[in-house]
Amino acid sequence: MAKDKKWIDCPLCGTKGSMVFHKDISRTYKSKNIKPFEVAGLKGYFCNNCKDGFFTQISMNKIRAEMAYHKAKYLSSTVTLSDLVPSNEIADVLGVSKQRVSIMLKEGLIKYAMNDYGVKLPLKSELERLKKENFR
Ligand SMILES: [Zn+2]
Repeated sequence: MAKDKKWIDCPLCGTKGSMVFHKDISRTYKSKNIKPFEVAGLKGYFCNNCKDGFFTQISMNKIRAEMAYHKAKYLSSTVTLSDLVPSNEIADVLGVSKQRVSIMLKEGLIKYAMNDYGVKLPLKSELERLKKENFR
């Protein structure tokens, strides 16, 4: 995993020495059809002057995973079984283990919906996308 850059000067507004590391940022996110949700405990460098900045890679991954989870919760009420595909089919296409697929689902690298028991089920459209990317 790439190391996070230690920011000092703000590359966005050009202020010198304005970047401060924050350890417990909460942000509210929303996306189409999804109710706003909060992600807490985020870390990153933000500028004292323009307030813009960067989250750490771990925090960005956390945001992506939370976003995928909330999208999945929404999708679960709209998709039908025929829109979904078993994890092992995705594993076959990618040539990886089922365990790896379940990590990719959790991390939001593959779009999914959830059944009533909270089991993550990949979207069938992802199968096509992953096939294409694999054969590139
Ligand atoms: Zn700035």
